[in-house]
Amino acid sequence: MSIRDNVKRVQDCIAASCARVDRDPSSVTLVAVSKLKTVAEIIEAADAGLQHFGENRVEEGVEKIPQVNESARGNITWHMVGHIQSRKAKQVVQRFDIVQSVDSLKLAKRLSRFAVESGRVLSAHLEINISGEASKYGLAGYNWYQDHSVKARLWREASEIAALPNIEIRGLMTMAPYGAEEKTVRRVFSDLRDLRDELTREIELPLPELSMGMTDDYQIAIEEGATMIRIGRALFGERV
Ligand SMILES: *Cc1c(COP(=O)(O)O)cnc(C)c1O
Repeated sequence: MSIRDNVKRVQDCIAASCARVDRDPSSVTLVAVSKLKTVAEIIEAADAGLQHFGENRVEEGVEKIPQVNESARGNITWHMVGHIQSRKAKQVVQRFDIVQSVDSLKLAKRLSRFAVESGRVLSAHLEINISGEASKYGLAGYNWYQDHSVKARLWREASEIAALPNIEIRGLMTMAPYGAEEKTVRRVFSDLRDLRDELTREIELPLPELSMGMTDDYQIAIEEGATMIRIGRALFGERV
């Protein structure tokens, strides 16, 4: 299967998932996660019509982004989707268009500071650890609707981050547990959606984007309201 065939197949699956829940496929943005893939592979995917690409490591993105931008025909929007060490925040602001992985107030403050210095506004998502797994990054969000201290802390962090200059919080991002049952995965996604709805209502923070769903679970994520899915393997094949 070529990358072009894979793009077509994923787009067809997106359309089918949208049809099941009466959504317009144009309401779902496909972000191709190109970590460990070559510049040539990324350009192949761009030539097949993709415009959004995601990387999860700063150094790798910093190396590949200028090369891809130079060779690709259309304009590409670059998403940072992995954990960012504070000392690399400046490079992220210089190279990426959207940071989906804002996982602490400390990181948000640094990104904001560098965005101010470079005179740009950085689009961002708050990464929320809904599943509660210790291995995952994100603002703590496990059981947020029942645990008052978790909710209070999230509300405070979201408000403080939203008030920072030159960083515009446009949505939430999460990852479901790897290999979990459908019921569990669906619950993680619906919890994120409910969190988005309640944050929007209570702190009047508009959060149009819900970034959730990867190769193994994006169809469930779309049914639960994802507006952005982050797909690696289904587009590029296994990472070796
Ligand atoms: C790797 C990665 C993806 C894509 O995962 P696949 O299972 O290959 O689709 C999505 N989001 C993040 C944050 C990732 O690191």
